[in-house]
Amino acid sequence: MGPIRRRRLRRLLIASGAVLIAAVLWWVWHWQFDNALRESRRHAEARLALYTSSLDGALERFTYLPDLLARQPLVRGALADRPAVIRRVNRHLERVAERSGAEAIYLMDRRGLTLAASNHATPASFIGHRYEYRPYFRAAIEGGQGEFFAVGSTTGRPGYFVSAPVRTASAEDATIGGVLAIKVSLESLQADWREAGEKVLLTDANGVVILSSRPEWRFRRLGRLDAAALGEVRAQRQFQGAALAPLGERLNDGSLWVESGALGERFFTTARALDTLGWRMHYLVPVRPLYVSARNAVLLAGAVCLALLLLGLWLRERQQRLWLREREARIMREANERLESRVAARTRELESAQAELVQAGKLAALGTMAAGIAHELNQPLAGIRTYAASGARLLERGRDEAASDNFRRIQGLSERLATLIRQLKLFARKGGAREPVDLAARLDFVLDLLEERLARQGVALDVQLPEHAAAGSLLVAGDTVRVEQLLTNLLRNALDALREIEAPRLTVSVSQGESRVTLEIADNGPGIDEDVLEHLFDPFFTTKAVGDGLGLGLFIAFGIVQDLEGRIRAENRPASLGGGAAFSVELPRARQVPARRDREESLT
Ligand code: ADP
Repeated sequence: MGPIRRRRLRRLLIASGAVLIAAVLWWVWHWQFDNALRESRRHAEARLALYTSSLDGALERFTYLPDLLARQPLVRGALADRPAVIRRVNRHLERVAERSGAEAIYLMDRRGLTLAASNHATPASFIGHRYEYRPYFRAAIEGGQGEFFAVGSTTGRPGYFVSAPVRTASAEDATIGGVLAIKVSLESLQADWREAGEKVLLTDANGVVILSSRPEWRFRRLGRLDAAALGEVRAQRQFQGAALAPLGERLNDGSLWVESGALGERFFTTARALDTLGWRMHYLVPVRPLYVSARNAVLLAGAVCLALLLLGLWLRERQQRLWLREREARIMREANERLESRVAARTRELESAQAELVQAGKLAALGTMAAGIAHELNQPLAGIRTYAASGARLLERGRDEAASDNFRRIQGLSERLATLIRQLKLFARKGGAREPVDLAARLDFVLDLLEERLARQGVALDVQLPEHAAAGSLLVAGDTVRVEQLLTNLLRNALDALREIEAPRLTVSVSQGESRVTLEIADNGPGIDEDVLEHLFDPFFTTKAVGDGLGLGLFIAFGIVQDLEGRIRAENRPASLGGGAAFSVELPRARQVPARRDREESLT
């Protein structure tokens, strides 16, 4: 996938993620709002049911009381307007009002003039006031039962009025002589609502608020009020001079917008009808808390979304980090593998190159060796040929003495050839037995063979064996022939080096360690040059004149020491010790008693 397509895809993903989150938040808002609204509606219904039933109950208690009182002879008697009876009636009504909890109970004559009243003794006494314009009076005077809610024209206090006709005689059809009315105050209900902290309204049939938990909403109207109804209200002086301004405005969604101070308030309303006078009770649910709860839910959902988003980002970043690390590891692994395979290939190349070199080296060595051997053989052979030819001529001439000298020379030369061949034969010998060899004895034997040369050169010989070394205790693991060959080669080299020295001295010392025996052969000759030291043990390396040395002595010595698993080292001795060269040989110790063996192969 190209980077542009990837970027486009990412942009699309981000956009759809944003849309999804917005949709979720929108849904959460509505879900929470609807939930809260449903819940408060349910609460409103429950409260309304309670309040309406308690109000209905409170009013019902007074519905029967006027008729009951109107049938009492004492009350009926008061219509005769006799002062003595009126006084008794006043006291009677006062008692009944007290007991029943009515605000006032009063008796009017046919013209609506109050004759007796429970509040006769108070300044706000109804006695002498006329109420013929009130509907409850008119209903009762016509023989029915009157019910009405109005603001008291005498007291200015609102109340529920209920009335019954008072007949002059006990008969049901006797003429109606007056009306008995009871005024019930509903102020305490309002106080209850206010204390419960709820917004409750009670409207009458015209939609005018007659009770409210908020006093300022009282005597305002919900809905429209036509002119006829308004005229009637005015005629009945129902609310005295109240303007009956609209309480608020109905919005499209059915909520009620109420102006209060600078700000307005919105309510959802739930209403329930009462049994009385077409009254309705309204429960108002403020909209703002619903919005607040929806907003809180949205904030919470937003926080959850954000947390999920962050979690997602974190997981993604971690994934990427892991992926990167894996990629790095893979790259490293691959690089390693490549390197290893390269090393392996190089090693193979080197090995084959080395094999070639070894092969070439072998060929070169073979060439050098063949040339050396040819040279070494050629010289004595040429000598033999010459001496033989001249010997033959000498014999012909009868010079026997000179001829026999030639024969001696021929013998010496063939001796040399034999020595050379013996040396070469050593190469053919492989391994050999590994048996305890008494080093001290072999040293004695070789020194015996060289005694004549030592004496001729006037060499001072110093042999140092370890103290208390019993005979046959310096045992090394090897075989006699090779040990003798080793000693011979080293001692011969030393004697060669001492040829021109004034006071030649040869020191042979043997020391014994836990597992090794060390032999040192030192001379006070010229020593070994630095550049010679490097090639000392190479085959056919020699500094001696042609015919004097083959350059195989040390090479053979090295081979023997290697075979016997020992070590050989050459160094120059410091001038303080008289200078010269020193060869030290370390050989593994053997602990067995040396086996007796014949000396057929011993060397000269
Ligand atoms: P060759 O004796 O036939 O020359 P070697 O392998 O025995 O062959 O010795 C190689 C060379 O090492 C000699 O030519 C000589 O230069 C040097 N060398 C050996 N031993 C001594 C010694 N004791 N002192 C000085 N040089 C020595």
